[in-house]
Amino acid sequence: MKKYENNLAFAKQMDEEDELKDYRSQFHLPMQKNGKPYVYLCGNSLGLQPKSTKANLEQELLDWANLGVEGHFHAKNPWMPYHEFLTEAMAKVVGAKPEEVVVMNTLTVNLHLMMVSFYQPKGKRNKILIEADAFPSDKYAVESQIKFHGLSTKDCLIELKAREGEVCLRQEDILEVIDTQGDEIALVLLGNTNYYTGQYFDMKTISEHGHAKGCMVGFDCAHGAGNVSLNLHDSGCDFAVWCNYKYINSGPGSLGGAFVHERHINNKDLPRFEGWWGHNKATRFKMRDAFDPTPTIEAWQLSNPPILSMVAVWSSLKLFEEIGMDKLRKKAISLTGYLEYLVKTLGDDIINIITPSDPNQRGSQLSIQVKNADKTLFNQITEDGVIADWREPDVIRVAPVAMYNSYEDVFNFYSILKRGI
Ligand SMILES: *Cc1c(COP(=O)(O)O)cnc(C)c1O
Repeated sequence: MKKYENNLAFAKQMDEEDELKDYRSQFHLPMQKNGKPYVYLCGNSLGLQPKSTKANLEQELLDWANLGVEGHFHAKNPWMPYHEFLTEAMAKVVGAKPEEVVVMNTLTVNLHLMMVSFYQPKGKRNKILIEADAFPSDKYAVESQIKFHGLSTKDCLIELKAREGEVCLRQEDILEVIDTQGDEIALVLLGNTNYYTGQYFDMKTISEHGHAKGCMVGFDCAHGAGNVSLNLHDSGCDFAVWCNYKYINSGPGSLGGAFVHERHINNKDLPRFEGWWGHNKATRFKMRDAFDPTPTIEAWQLSNPPILSMVAVWSSLKLFEEIGMDKLRKKAISLTGYLEYLVKTLGDDIINIITPSDPNQRGSQLSIQVKNADKTLFNQITEDGVIADWREPDVIRVAPVAMYNSYEDVFNFYSILKRGI
């Protein structure tokens, strides 16, 4: 890899050589009042809009206007099987087999559906292992599942805390808890990548340790999907869930995704909440039969899906399919490395990056602490044209996204931050 340089000419040269450079123009960049685009480094919170989304939406609106209910079978992209059009591309993004992946519901809903199947407290094996700084929605979902089973969160929740004086968890510490307390753990549920620190865990090793102790292992990949190469199938984890509006650019509140490993798919002993869209397609409309599950993860589907939201997921997935995760990941490592290199030139006495420096332990996001800074600094860089994200008490989260961010964006962020400090 090229040696990084701290100047704009270098950043521009890197952009020139970037094999993905043309994709930036396929997205709408939010504009400042002065007519220049923002330095948008917030794709970990809400991905930008592909320009193709609008025309694709118009197609479905047109078919709805012209065909009404007939659109289920006669629209250009018939609505009956519409979710199936997304499956193969989605499966490639998360590294799974098509029968293991479905786009449905939203993340927290999917997490509940997965816990219905994979959190089965029995006797002393009744605990859930999560991160102490798990995303709040995940924590609420987990706690409410424990209570739903008539158990207490005080007894059944194990929270992984970082060591004294450290922010990130150490993988060895996670494994030790699993190895020593695994007999009492029904479900290991970790966020991958962590939304706050940007830390990425080795799912395969964690799954192996969990399974050796008889635990189920699931991951919340809200910050991993479309960001890192998840390889869900090979990781061996039991399930995963994610949203598609962060790195997968599918619009605010868009549909999420779910993965169930193939070994569970036809397991009739697994409890599941069911609805008509999970029923075998051939007989779904007979309406009277006993539930006959589709022999894929689609058995977990409940309702006929919102096509207008799926349009946006599909529009974005087409870009992922064109590029492939390998190229995206390769650029992401280089682009995030450049961000790290530049920010570090500001000096350890001012800057602390809490995200691991090992590229294998992080995705595109760096979580940056600026010593003695408060939100005034963040407000200043926003004023100066950066869209990033602030987490109390003192963390700026910045995510250069390989699909549409440039090295010049990263350099401009660094210059604006430097000016603001
Ligand atoms: C973004 C995010 C969510 C959001 O959940 P929704 O149900 O889509 O609102 C949940 N968990 C994590 C870890 C997230 O990063």
